[in-house]
Amino acid sequence: MESSAIQVKGVDFTYDSEENLALKKINLDILAKEVTAFIGPSGCGKSTLIRCFNRMNDVVAGARIVSGNIYVLQEDINQPEIDVVDLRRRVGMVFQKSNPFPKSIYENVAYGLRLFGENKDFLDEKVYQSLKEVGLWKEIKDNLEKNALYLSGGQQQRLCIARAIAISPKIILMDEPCSALDPIATAKIEELIFQLREKFTIVIVTHNLQQAMRVSDFTAFLNEGQLIEYGKTSEIFSKPKKDETEAYISGKFG
Ligand code: ADP
Repeated sequence: MESSAIQVKGVDFTYDSEENLALKKINLDILAKEVTAFIGPSGCGKSTLIRCFNRMNDVVAGARIVSGNIYVLQEDINQPEIDVVDLRRRVGMVFQKSNPFPKSIYENVAYGLRLFGENKDFLDEKVYQSLKEVGLWKEIKDNLEKNALYLSGGQQQRLCIARAIAISPKIILMDEPCSALDPIATAKIEELIFQLREKFTIVIVTHNLQQAMRVSDFTAFLNEGQLIEYGKTSEIFSKPKKDETEAYISGKFG
């Protein structure tokens, strides 16, 4: 039986007041070692929901879960005793705009590992493995000391994925990871997602329906803060159960 990586139970979320919910009664069970895509029109709550999974919303003043619970790897992540740094070690994140540190390529990948006090041989090996895994090693092995900001946009995004996987998370959250990339760089990231699904649970927010179809096993369709439909990607796109889903995937709104 497939196990859950993330369980969302009855979550209401607001950025300001309880009368103005950005997420309403969300119930969702995200399966381990699968790729789950969040789709829906701009402003429907996709980013808000994915950011709940590693408590990225904590930094927004006033943002809070009003009711409900989120379990990540069977742990209620909004309990006071939760160590958020440790949570983010298990739940990595890749953003829309690639955000390498203005440091060398090597240091970018080693950064998270250093926080845990790893030795040089271990760092070298992990940097090598991580860059190899994202398909960057051959391209940049002779330039590890170069500043990461000199890489192309697509290479920077793969570097950010290498940085995320270096610390061996269980889950990787990707918030529109390709929206700033050209089609060739996008195709490389999509191939990478396909390959990473073997090892990680991946949740990806995308406004690109073709991308959701290509990379995901499961799709959640949100609209106006509500989860409208959730199921196997093949079924959501071929025979959606709700008229609202049908309207959205056939381009009638959003
Ligand atoms: P999506 O990712 O689907 O485009 P978001 O999760 O970004 O949607 O936004 C959902 C709702 O929450 C929108 O109404 C948006 O304006 C609001 N929102 C998002 N981020 C913030 C924020 N930092 N502060 C206040 N409101 C926000």
